[in-house]
Amino acid sequence: MTGIYIHIPFCLRKCPYCDFYSVRIDNGLLESYIDALCRNFRAEKYRGVKADTIYFGGGTPSVLTGGQVKRITQGLYESFDIADDAEITIEANPCTVDRDKLLQYRQAGINRISFGVQSADDSELKALGRLHDYEGARRAVTLAQDVGFDNISCDIMLGTPEQNMVSLLYSAGKICELPIKHISAYMLKIEKGTAFDCEEVRKNTADDELVSDMYLSLTEHLNGRGFEQYEISNYARAGYESRHNLKYWLGQEYIGFGAAAHSLFDKKRYYVERDVQKYISAPLQEEIPEEEAYDERQEYIMLRVRLKSGLEKQRLKELYGDLAAEEMVRFCRTLETGGLCRVDEKKISLTPKGFLVSNSIIARLCDIAGLS
Ligand code: SF4
Repeated sequence: MTGIYIHIPFCLRKCPYCDFYSVRIDNGLLESYIDALCRNFRAEKYRGVKADTIYFGGGTPSVLTGGQVKRITQGLYESFDIADDAEITIEANPCTVDRDKLLQYRQAGINRISFGVQSADDSELKALGRLHDYEGARRAVTLAQDVGFDNISCDIMLGTPEQNMVSLLYSAGKICELPIKHISAYMLKIEKGTAFDCEEVRKNTADDELVSDMYLSLTEHLNGRGFEQYEISNYARAGYESRHNLKYWLGQEYIGFGAAAHSLFDKKRYYVERDVQKYISAPLQEEIPEEEAYDERQEYIMLRVRLKSGLEKQRLKELYGDLAAEEMVRFCRTLETGGLCRVDEKKISLTPKGFLVSNSIIARLCDIAGLS
């Protein structure tokens, strides 16, 4: 079954570190954008396609009213064959929701909500240019639980201005106390051309070595509190892994709707241009093929290394041949001694320490597999 991704590229204002595509919220524009989304759901090629996850990402999808979310989910249910137990997620900025809106989201079918909390330290949140404080985030999570959300996720950021090891673990401790089932932890990357791309911010953020230590300590902290790491940046209580995001790492199909959305459908990867106005005026979204067509042989190593479940030895043999698979196992055994990797009878998986150097491990494995 496929996943459906809905991109809502609207934000209240631009965060200084962000280079995602988004524009300032404008209600008229948003209404026309929703019309365009619903028009696209009705495209002939999607009629009756079975889907078991829906994900509202952004931007800030929680700028949508409950009624607007309902219009979108209804449009999806009319065109797709949505599984009864579908996971339907919305990303939310804590300062954009109140009890009524959260209740309306539940009534519109949303059953998983992911809050961009980022930190429990208000000076760090201010330095990140976020509009909420920690008390606002805590309140939003609690309200979500009150209106019936059982599956709640929070994001936390590492390596942000003002942050140190003590404040990171303080934030992690506070966030773990919330009634949540899932945590995503992302390292701040200073992107070219953003307001953070300056010396002032660089000198106020931890260096790579400290961020690596923070990542390892955070992982230990979260694992110790029942949030098991299942992917480089994701931790969950048993049974609460993100079903939608797992599709990306398992190379499964997903269809993206909206400006800047990406898809893997019918064995092809494509994307939609980052232009809201164009999206609204086009009869149907223009799907631009990615340069590289989907090829499991090319992508298996890169995607699976991210997962704690790792690379299956049998699949490595099928995709790259016995000799290359054996060579990969030999290489990974040498990494075991440094605590970077685990090799068992059936699979190869990286440890948290290995995740920190996953790019160079991937490069070597691709080399052995003979991939360019
Ligand atoms: S709310 Fe999210 S998508 Fe919007 S500007 Fe901030 S970080 Fe970027």
